[in-house]
Amino acid sequence: MKALVKAKPEEGIWMEEVPVPGIGPNDVLIQVSKTAICGTDIHIFNWDKWAQKTIPVPMVVGHEFVGEILGIGSEVMGLALGDRVSAEGHITCGHCRNCRAGRRHLCRNTMGVGVNRPGCFAQFISVPASNVFKVPEAISDEVASVLDPLGNAVHTALSFDLVGEDVLITGAGPIGTMAVAVCKHVGARHVVITDVNPYRLDLARKMGATRAVNVAEDDLMQVMDDLGMTEGFDVGLEMSGSPAAFRQLLKTMNHGGHVALLGILPEETPIDWTEVVFKGLQVKGIYGREMFETWYKMASMLQSGLDVTPAITHHFKVDDYAEGFEIMRSGQSGKVILDWD
Ligand code: NAD
Ligand code: ZN
Repeated sequence: MKALVKAKPEEGIWMEEVPVPGIGPNDVLIQVSKTAICGTDIHIFNWDKWAQKTIPVPMVVGHEFVGEILGIGSEVMGLALGDRVSAEGHITCGHCRNCRAGRRHLCRNTMGVGVNRPGCFAQFISVPASNVFKVPEAISDEVASVLDPLGNAVHTALSFDLVGEDVLITGAGPIGTMAVAVCKHVGARHVVITDVNPYRLDLARKMGATRAVNVAEDDLMQVMDDLGMTEGFDVGLEMSGSPAAFRQLLKTMNHGGHVALLGILPEETPIDWTEVVFKGLQVKGIYGREMFETWYKMASMLQSGLDVTPAITHHFKVDDYAEGFEIMRSGQSGKVILDWD
């Protein structure tokens, strides 16, 4: 089969012929129809320090996809040939304390599809049936292929009560822009998002942001003043991985505010801890998606009017994957879809 492979320990990703993966008794084989490129895939493409220490070469990459079940292991229940599915890309161990308590997103032995084991940028992928999510009919293939990053946005945003609250999102990457729509959908009042990239701030406006602020040019405090926000944000969602953005978020939070960190900050990021302590902030780290509460909530919101399609900006045939990676690397895109049909 055709697959996009990290074949050499250097910059790049290559289209190669590889064997169709096998399935064990608890796995399913899925014929992939659409995939989306994630920031993680760009790290792997760029072969940065994280990728060098994490990815065994060769590796079929990719973890955001939708497809159709083509093969089923003998022990699998609740799934059928032909089901349209996506899958949770975190494969959990099943035997640690959290897994056994039903908190699979906190598994200490998590393996990543397209990171530690073969991924979905291929005509076929094999995954454990317990990771599969059946996609409701009302959700298009296009949107189904980005359920994984949308799930990051949903997991982060739904960490706290948002009804009537003022929310700050730092970082208008694909996940931050989708989080805007999620926060508005569940009833936040003002949803303000920051970035330094005008293209992405425009996308965030299309997703319904109250204000999309270019912090390289404009003063966030002034925007808060204009909106009549005298006390600060109630909820802060860090989705940039930028220390400067995180510091600005802490500074603009109201006392007693709730902060969720999805963005991967550098290991040693100095902050003013008095902002956390004296304001009595609650800070929560987010990894992946809750299995499978995030998936159910996300699917239900999509069926009740949540629209994330403006965040999907580019489509390419998989043979033109190089162009897709280039546009994603340029920062002049939202989600980029590769078509395998
Ligand atoms: P992305 O890198 O595409 O977007 C980050 C955005 O932050 C960019 O648009 C960038 O211009 C912006 N930014 C840079 N400096 C800024 C500043 N000072 N203020 C505001 N914005 C600034 O990332 P993404 O794919 O949307 O993911 C968001 C973050 O979440 C990334 O850090 C990613 O690594 C992380 N992530 C974490 C998990 C998890 O499980 N914890 C999962 C997926 C992604
Ligand atoms: Zn576990």
